[in-house]
Amino acid sequence: MTIEETGQSLVDMVRDIHGTGFIPLHRPVFEGNEKQYLVDCIDSNFVSSVGAKVVEFEQHIAAFTGAKFAIATVNGTAALHVALQLAGVVRDDEVITQALTFIATCNALSYAGAHPVFVDVDRDTLGLSPEALRRWLAEHAEVRDGKAWNRHTGRCIRACVPMHTFGIPLRIKEVVAVCDEYGIAVVEDAAESLGSWVGNRHTGTFGRLATLSFNGNKVITTGGGGMIITDDEALARRAKHLTTTAKIPHPYEFVHDEVGYNYRMPNLNAALGCAQMERLPQMLQIKAEVAARYRDFFAGTDVRFVDPLPGTTANYWLNAIVLGSEAERDALLEYTNSHEVMTRPIWRLMSRLPMFAHCQNDGLENSLWLEARVLNLPSSVPESEFGKLKA
Ligand SMILES: *Cc1c(COP(=O)(O)O)cnc(C)c1O
Repeated sequence: MTIEETGQSLVDMVRDIHGTGFIPLHRPVFEGNEKQYLVDCIDSNFVSSVGAKVVEFEQHIAAFTGAKFAIATVNGTAALHVALQLAGVVRDDEVITQALTFIATCNALSYAGAHPVFVDVDRDTLGLSPEALRRWLAEHAEVRDGKAWNRHTGRCIRACVPMHTFGIPLRIKEVVAVCDEYGIAVVEDAAESLGSWVGNRHTGTFGRLATLSFNGNKVITTGGGGMIITDDEALARRAKHLTTTAKIPHPYEFVHDEVGYNYRMPNLNAALGCAQMERLPQMLQIKAEVAARYRDFFAGTDVRFVDPLPGTTANYWLNAIVLGSEAERDALLEYTNSHEVMTRPIWRLMSRLPMFAHCQNDGLENSLWLEARVLNLPSSVPESEFGKLKA
């Protein structure tokens, strides 16, 4: 098939799932108690930084992920900023992450004053490669006093931030095992992977801390929002303290014991999140059905539909395919977008952005290869599907 023919039948198939008109990559669906809970907030006058919905939403996330503690924040970037601080990252530390990620990962690293180090991803998971990590550390790191030091820069390699790209679980157990050998803290950027599992363990429960995002384009949304999850009670307490201006609890006195942040999630946003969580299992089921349509469509072609590794479960937040070449990828982008079906290339590598071009990297062979070939397909939960399932 030519790209033109593939494009035409792909557009037809997408329209069969998502209907007519412009088809975005991912839009939220509000078909549960969203309106009711928002009205309840307004009626109760608790719309801002105080209110019961924040605690309720945190409990939803803890129960769903199996994390002991969940701390809501104003967005995922803020969650990651604080999580890095909690992992011990201080100015001029180095933090290993992927060049193949969304900018928020590296922005948070920069807010924490850290120098990103870019290590390659695996071609199958699109996530941080434990092999590449081991290789880079063997070449550059030495362990002293239980910490990893970069032999060439003299800096402490304090943390590692792997990211579960598009909700496809990366080899997180292997990454954690390598980091443990070097005394490097793992902070999982699980912004895209709510509803993704390794065996029966949720992504984000392998590192010391992890962060989630509830931006409008994520699996579920609170309008804007994020979450820190951890099993460590002391870290959880500090996460709450730091994200709520570091105020010492008191009925009327205002005393703060360190520089904190106003990173708390407003009650209104949490109310939306509570309603979305009630629908999450159903939304995940429907997203898996949408993914199955794409998988079948590309089966037997030389286009690879990105599926999770055996033994892992993806949330299919954004469905992704790998084309044979950059030219093919560009031709399909052009065809679909000019037919009002939104598709998107993967992010420009962080190592190729002006702010991070000077950062250390390991050559990034797979990242560069994927950067030229990956394309995202429309992946929303189709509204009509809810209708069908309700019937
Ligand atoms: C969405 C996202 C975040 C956080 O984004 P916010 O918009 O700040 O909630 C962080 N990392 C990745 C990889 C993301 O996709």
